[in-house]
Formats: sequence, structure tokens, C-alpha cells
Amino acid sequence: MLYFDYNATCPIRPEVVKISHEVMSCHGNASSIHGAGRAARKHVEGAREHVATLVGCAPKQVIFTSGATESNNTVLRGYADRPLLVAATEHPSVYFCGREDAITIPVKQSGLIDLKALEELLKENKKALVSIMMVNNETGVIQPTEEICALVHKYDGIFHTDAVQAAGRFPLSFKDLDVDFMSLSAHKLGGPQGVGALITRQGVNPPKFMHGGGQERRCRAGTENVAGIAGFGEAARLAVEQMDDFQALETLREKLENGLRQSSNRVRIYGEDAPRVANTTSCTVEGIDSAVFLMNLDLENVAISSGAACSSGAVKPSRVLLSMGVPEELAKTGLRISMGWNTKEAEIDQFLDKWNTCLKRMDK
Ligand code: PMP
Repeated sequence: MLYFDYNATCPIRPEVVKISHEVMSCHGNASSIHGAGRAARKHVEGAREHVATLVGCAPKQVIFTSGATESNNTVLRGYADRPLLVAATEHPSVYFCGREDAITIPVKQSGLIDLKALEELLKENKKALVSIMMVNNETGVIQPTEEICALVHKYDGIFHTDAVQAAGRFPLSFKDLDVDFMSLSAHKLGGPQGVGALITRQGVNPPKFMHGGGQERRCRAGTENVAGIAGFGEAARLAVEQMDDFQALETLREKLENGLRQSSNRVRIYGEDAPRVANTTSCTVEGIDSAVFLMNLDLENVAISSGAACSSGAVKPSRVLLSMGVPEELAKTGLRISMGWNTKEAEIDQFLDKWNTCLKRMDK
């Protein structure tokens, strides 16, 4: 299979499978004080150090969760007493977190936050909780997180960033960014699905979401997913070690995007006027519903993602592209192509071959 859907989930790294498999065969509960428990605890704490290194914080600032959806919900629902401002381009786990009172911050055509509009909203909504993702999952656009965070703090706000599509893709420092909360997910960097983290400002406990036992500094109840956490740690370690390889994907993406442009003058690429992560291409192909294109590529054993959502047989336009001013009909054709640690240069040519075959077939 030609897998170009890393932003949906990354193929798990073999080193991660090995360690998670080994740890899964052990039977200690990380809270038990006997030898088996202490062995499990060692895996959890080792992983915490690797995750802390990945995002530039101290290990004690890392709280393991079941994934970024839980981390996002913990913060956004936890500060229900504060007005909530979220970017128009947020992931559903932020945008549809269950806070009906959420106010949308507009983005510009580039996909970057409209800072003037944000400042006005901060003046109108005192002490707001603001959630703006570091990197967009559909377009790869990188927000100026440090600048946004300083603005939020100027108005006594709390700042949360969903850094799921950022971690492991460029060096980042939680401390220097000065954000209050950051969400991470293991499966976007070659770790297992169903495990993630919430990074918290030094000395700050996040609002309690899961109640029960005293795990994770009494902040997140529930027996730790030791095998998953150990795999997350290994994935974080490898992401740090191989960060240059990820950045090198930019050359492959250039080749890919040149090929897409040559395939038809109806292809448009988004986010090019802003800084973007190296692995993501967001495009539309005028006149072809994304679901139809996706199915055609699937028949050729090629996996990509549609920016648009398909519900009850009808294609809904991509909310992210709409918010960037893309017309509705065009936004229904949104596609996302994303690469990662195991993408080979030869696969770009193979992908473009299949792309052209499908395009010709659909144009008949
Ligand atoms: N935020 C972003 C930007 C994502 O891409 C995803 C995964 N699609 C999530 C949050 C949710 O992460 P998880 O699968 O760990 O719940």
C-alpha cells in the first residue's frame, strides 16, 4: 500500500512494537509497591523523561492520558467558568468539545490566526481560556504560538495548544513558548494509539477530568496504560533522534506538489503563504468530490485523507478550508496527503502515477 495518511495515524515504529510487546507481557500495576509494580513504574517514568525531552519541559510536567482528545477535553471543559475562544481551524476534539458557548477566532486566508480579531475578542471576554493548535492537521500551517500566547497572557487569559501535529516535527520548547497547557498524542509520531499526554505549566495542576485513584500526581485517575506509555516514550525518543529526517521530507513534498500541479490546472494547494510542517499537503481538485477521489485511490491501494467529511452519503465541505475563505463547492473537494518516517522518495513517483490514472478515469 502507498500510505500517505500519516496525519490521521502514523505507522507504528518497529522499535515501539518491540518495547510495547515486551512491557505488555509483564504484569505489574505501576502503583503497586512490589517488584512487578516497581518494574512497571520504571517504564512509565522512563517514558515520561523521553516525552519531556521531546517538548522541552521537566518530566513532572507530563501527565499521561488516553490521547489528545482527552487532554483537550480536560482543559477546555475543566475551565467552564472562563469564556472559551477557539480557532476556526481547530480539530473536532477542541471545536466540538461540548462547550456550546465557545467563541470562534477567525483565521486569515493563509490559515494563520487573525491576531487583531483575537485581541478584540480578548478585550471583550476577560480572562478567557484560549485554545489554538500549533500545527493544523489538514493544512500543516504553523501558528506563531509564542506571539499568540504572549497576547493571551497580556489579557490575563490561559493558553492551551494542541501540539499533536507539531511534536516530533520540529524542535519545540514548552518552557520558552510559555504556554499553560499542551496536548500530545503518541500515534502521530509512530507510537501506539490510545495514549497521549497533557503537559502542564510548572506547579499547576490541570482541572480534574477523570476522578478516582491517585495516579499521575493525583491529576488523572486510572491505572496507567504501561505498555502504551512505554511505546509512547520510545516513539518520542526516536522522534527526537530523527528530527532532521522529518524536516528532509520537505524535498519530497516539493516533488509531490510539483507533480500535483502538473497533473491538472484544477489543482490548488493551500497554506503555502504561511510556515508549514514538512510533511503535509492540502489541496482541492475542482469538480471532483473528495469522497469519489478517495475511493478511486483506495482501489489503487493508495491511502490519503479527505479534508471534507462525508455524512449520510453527502460530502460536507472542509470546515478548515471554508474558514480560509475557500468557496463551498471547492471545499467539498478537499484532500490531505501526508508523509512521515517511513515515506520513501520512490513512493512519490508511484503515488503520482496512481493519482494521474485516477484523475483520467474520473474525467472520462
Ligand atoms: N488534535 C489533532 C490536531 C489531531 O490531529 C488529532 C488526531 N486526529 C487529535 C487532536 C486527537 O488525538 P487522539 O487520536 O489522540 O485523541
